[in-house]
Amino acid sequence: MRKILVAGNWKMNGSNAMARELAGAVASGFKPGSSVEMAVFPPFPYINIVAGAAADTELMFGAQDLNENPAGAHTGEVNAAMLVDLRCQMVLVGHSERRAMYADTDQRVADKFAAALAVGLVPVLCVGESLEEREAGETEAVIARQLDAVLEKSGIAGFANAVLAYEPVWAIGTGKTASPDQAQEIHAFIRDKLTALDGIIAGQLRILYGGSVKGSNAAELFAQTDIDGGLIGGASLTAEDFLSIYNAVA
Ligand code: PEP
Repeated sequence: MRKILVAGNWKMNGSNAMARELAGAVASGFKPGSSVEMAVFPPFPYINIVAGAAADTELMFGAQDLNENPAGAHTGEVNAAMLVDLRCQMVLVGHSERRAMYADTDQRVADKFAAALAVGLVPVLCVGESLEEREAGETEAVIARQLDAVLEKSGIAGFANAVLAYEPVWAIGTGKTASPDQAQEIHAFIRDKLTALDGIIAGQLRILYGGSVKGSNAAELFAQTDIDGGLIGGASLTAEDFLSIYNAVA
């Protein structure tokens, strides 16, 4: 059976109390025997609190970013080993907000992806096109470029221990969801591209869709052949909304 992953990106939201309550409520929402997994990505200061709330539960958690360097003079940054220390299992890499606002070039994203793999963290690599790129017919070229940078550095083998998230930038936080057909078309493009390099790794790779996913549209999106779950922003900020996505598919 296909394993679906419902992943929540809290972005720059939260507090001690919110992290404890939200992670606890999400962790207690698991249905016995379901093949659907859940992970949350709180801001750095709340990871430890989420780790406490998730202990002895099925809830996975990770960070929203990492620095690609192993240590040293990088004031304000957090490296991969620190995330392992905090018991993170995963880390988002190349979210479009980081690509657009915080100088995450394709090369830097590839370096972050490799840094995560090197310590046994599962990178959740985010790719996706802007509205201008889609309207110019460049969607596949943009995604191929973003993937190629990572493939060049880590090879197809790197994707054996990774998750991919297709997040059209025009659908993130806008309320505009890609239609299931639109999303499936790009997910199939991604899987086909990777299948040409290794059919087994590409077949097993989870490719999440992200962009205004809600309880009301999750089931139809995740029913598509190549959509293996979702990366959820806004709707991951309340347990009710996040669990409504989980419940729609679990
Ligand atoms: C995201 O932050 O990755 C995201 C998909 O946000 P939203 O669900 O709010 O569109």
